[in-house]
Amino acid sequence: MHKNPLLKETGEFSLIKKLELLNRNSNIESSSLIAGIGDDAAVVEKDSNNCLLITADSLVENIHFSLNYTTAFMLGKKCLAVNLSDIAAMGGNPLYYLVCLCAPAATPLQLIQDIYAGMKNMANKYSLLLVGGDTVASDRGITISITIIGEAKKDRVVFRHGAKKGDHIFVTGYPGDSALGLEILRKGSFKEPKSRIIKKHISPVPRIEAGKALSKHRIASSMIDVSDGIASDMRHIMEQSMVGASIFSSSLKLSKSYRTYCSLRKDEEYFYPALCGGEDYELLFTAGHEKNTEIKALEKKLGIPITHIGEVTGNKGVLEIIGTDGKPLKFEKEGFAHFK
Ligand code: ADP
Ligand code: MG
Repeated sequence: MHKNPLLKETGEFSLIKKLELLNRNSNIESSSLIAGIGDDAAVVEKDSNNCLLITADSLVENIHFSLNYTTAFMLGKKCLAVNLSDIAAMGGNPLYYLVCLCAPAATPLQLIQDIYAGMKNMANKYSLLLVGGDTVASDRGITISITIIGEAKKDRVVFRHGAKKGDHIFVTGYPGDSALGLEILRKGSFKEPKSRIIKKHISPVPRIEAGKALSKHRIASSMIDVSDGIASDMRHIMEQSMVGASIFSSSLKLSKSYRTYCSLRKDEEYFYPALCGGEDYELLFTAGHEKNTEIKALEKKLGIPITHIGEVTGNKGVLEIIGTDGKPLKFEKEGFAHFK
């Protein structure tokens, strides 16, 4: 690597670490900051019982979306959903959002209005209010950056740290559908435009209700939302909790569409979308085994799968993914990361 490495050599996660270290050297102290860089949202004390959650995410044209595959309205919904997903991962309740809109001067006004109508549609579902933002010209493509402010009870926030050896690992929903949806869209080979997996990619549903229930009843010991893939996001929990993990691919609950679409694939190739595909926006969490009954009841109440897929181990930093034959599965690229 050369002396002044490029972002493509540094990679997204290592860049964030460097930026966090730079910031640590600042001599400004904040007594109200509970958690800064490193989780799905920053946590700031609001009063003695409550805290604010603050999170930001951007969707960039031709990196995160293409208007060939989605409508402006659906794009608006998704922009807010992916941000809401980070609030869900902390067990929080969303309150306000700000939108930074970056668009070329030649963009049709209607397209922007449609994006905003989509955002409003999603915001209404969670009683979320738009309170500000910024508007700037771009020389290429549209970028939508959203900041959400949410709240949570101080003693109920769920962090990426907190997983303990022996805890069970769970994931909500049907992992891998979004990655397959994108694959089908890219091939332009979809025969059923309304197929569930394409919808899952275009219009993910943030797991706000599940996140709130998992925190309210103190079920989850740690939690993250799956934006980059189960394997990659499990590593964030492992790192912050200083543990290891074993994931059993035979335990994954895969949708019927997934099983049909991937039926000719074998081993790593078969499980790749579920374990390493991005943008599921499901919740990946850990919980003590004594919570199993409560989790079963929650699964029934919410009507979404909450599947036990593995165990937290004391093997710090080691992620084992076990294949259906009991042997480890090895993936060259475990999940999505920018620049690489
Ligand atoms: P997520 O996928 O949940 O949005 P990220 O992997 O994007 O999380 O970010 C991980 C952590 O790093 C978060 O706490 C986020 O706020 C922080 N972060 C990401 N990019 C930057 C940046 N450019 N500057 C400062 N903090 C950042
Ligand atoms: Mg996240």
